[in-house]
Amino acid sequence: MPDAKYALVKCSTSGELYILAEDKVTFVASALKTTYEVISTFSGADLENGTCSHPLLPDKVSPLLPANHVTMTKGTGLVHTAPAHGMEDYSVASQHNLSTDCLVDEDGVFTAAAGPELQNKAVLDEGTDVVIKMLQASKNLLLEEKLEHSYPYDWRTKKPVVIRASKQWFVNISELKATAKELLKKVKFIPGSAQNAMVEMMDRRPYWCISRQRVWGVPIPVFHHKTKDEFLINSQTIEHLAKLVEEHGSDVWWTLPPEQLLPKEVLSQVGGPDALEYEPGRDILDIWFDSGTSWACVLPGTDQTADLYLEGKDQLGGWFQSSLLTSVAVRKRAPFKTVVVHGFTLGEKGEKMSKSLGNVIDPDVVINGGKDQSKEPPYGADVLRWWVAESNVFAEVTLGPSALNAAREDISKLRNTLRFLLGNVADFNPETDSVPVDKMYVVDQYVLHLLQGLARKIDDSYKQYDFGKVIRLLQAFYTRELSNFYFSIIKDRLYCEKASDPKRRSCQTALAEILDVLARSFAPILPHLAEEVFQHVPYIQEPKSVFRTGWTTTSSVWKKPGLEEAMESACAMRDSFLGSIPGKNAAEYQVTIVIEPGLLFEIIEMLQSEETSSTSQLNELMMASQTTLLSQDAPNMPADTTELKGTFLINLEGGDIREESEYKVIVTPTTKEKCPRCWKFTAESSNTLCPRCADVVGGK
Ligand SMILES: [Zn+2]
Repeated sequence: MPDAKYALVKCSTSGELYILAEDKVTFVASALKTTYEVISTFSGADLENGTCSHPLLPDKVSPLLPANHVTMTKGTGLVHTAPAHGMEDYSVASQHNLSTDCLVDEDGVFTAAAGPELQNKAVLDEGTDVVIKMLQASKNLLLEEKLEHSYPYDWRTKKPVVIRASKQWFVNISELKATAKELLKKVKFIPGSAQNAMVEMMDRRPYWCISRQRVWGVPIPVFHHKTKDEFLINSQTIEHLAKLVEEHGSDVWWTLPPEQLLPKEVLSQVGGPDALEYEPGRDILDIWFDSGTSWACVLPGTDQTADLYLEGKDQLGGWFQSSLLTSVAVRKRAPFKTVVVHGFTLGEKGEKMSKSLGNVIDPDVVINGGKDQSKEPPYGADVLRWWVAESNVFAEVTLGPSALNAAREDISKLRNTLRFLLGNVADFNPETDSVPVDKMYVVDQYVLHLLQGLARKIDDSYKQYDFGKVIRLLQAFYTRELSNFYFSIIKDRLYCEKASDPKRRSCQTALAEILDVLARSFAPILPHLAEEVFQHVPYIQEPKSVFRTGWTTTSSVWKKPGLEEAMESACAMRDSFLGSIPGKNAAEYQVTIVIEPGLLFEIIEMLQSEETSSTSQLNELMMASQTTLLSQDAPNMPADTTELKGTFLINLEGGDIREESEYKVIVTPTTKEKCPRCWKFTAESSNTLCPRCADVVGGK
């Protein structure tokens, strides 16, 4: 406003003086078919501290005030301030100690204070006509024309809203804030940045308006004097009302006669017949006050503190805050130990979802499919849950068909893993068939060792509410460790050994453990799939819900010293071998491993005690026709041989034992024939069974 240009003008017909914005002088003059004599011009700053006279009340003097919300971008002019009819005007008035009396009542009509001509007239209809007539009568109307301007409407009734100041109940938060902020320091926020955001929100709010004027809600238990501006609330009235509400519910406020709400003994304390002059107030509590006090009703125990409050970031100024403030006010304690704050879901291109844009993705449609299921297929609840879990929910997440299809793809891979596990424990009963850990194949022990690590990491991730990490850990495990490695190695043992052979039972023991840990680990994310798995585990006689049988259990026995070294060194040799025959069938080769005598040789010897074997643990790992383990070079190697060299550092007992050893992997095409039963190149001649298969088939 200070930069705006104004003119003091004199009307040629009436002789009266007006202040007009300079650019409006010609416009107003031509519209009124009159002329103005410009007496002087000045800027907005010159107007500060000036006064205006009221067009209808000659004795009323109104000050001219600067205000930050009046800007040049909306044009020049003086802005009329109605302190009782808008936030900005109210702030200017409070700043300058102007009266904020409201001349409009709750029905939208002028009150008696507006004067007899206006009293009881509706402000939006006949009231406007009367004001125009009054301005005409006082010869102060320069111009009358209709103009459209933007004004709030009620979305439900489509009728204009009359903004008016009203008396409300407030909680003075400034007195609670210091304690609340101190207590927040001990609350864990996920993500951590939400803590500052919440403090900032609190700082911006000096008062909390807890009263609302609605038809339905929890009443504010205050009695209003029928004629005087007085209120009645004290510990006696509250105690009495609390008993009534406990017995009959909060509706008593609206249904019981006032003399029952304010009984004699309470009335007598107010004193005299005046007491009968009170009536119950009609205000209800802000719903955030209701939900914000839920800690007092739902949390058990004497400390009534929740482990976790979980909501969207919009609640940093809502429920999180109202819960904290009510709890601090009553008992100087935060109602939560941890607060998890998530972001919002956006459309696939990152656009905001809104009803008016018509781009809202309905979770029910995702789960059950839309009307046209070719366009909106049913994904099921698990797909939606998986997608939520793998998203970074602490930021904004985008949702659309490609994200849902990817989630469905992931679950289908997990499902295949589970089918393999279930299928291969079909004839297994842990109670009678389990192999003790120390009798298990080293690779089976090793996979249990990996499983132990996985379970621990998943546990930690859940504790951090990092569900995305749970999914990444699971995916890495079932694709890399299981499908690509372990399952491919053990297939021969599972399918070709005798059903009850301890070698087969050894890996079934591991598979049963893997199945159990996997299903429990993803159960919080994919409850339906986890339950389905549990209903199909063959050795569970009476299938119980996965949610009623506890969390994952792993054994520290599975963490065995030397195990990692044995498997890691053997896998390094395996990788050399497989890398030297890309695209070829490993079973068509035989491998010779030469390790100088020492720790590495002793460790690898755990996997193969004989010099040459087609049935050893080492050969299973190599997936070769046969493997030979030597401590020095063999004298006569065939001509078509590939020789690979490597070193492996053994690090045992926290670095106390360190030994680097060299090894050679010598790869030669096999001279054996393919066994028609197990398809391994372990038979002495074609169309005869290999010795192992002959044993199994012979039933020895
Ligand atoms: Zn065979």
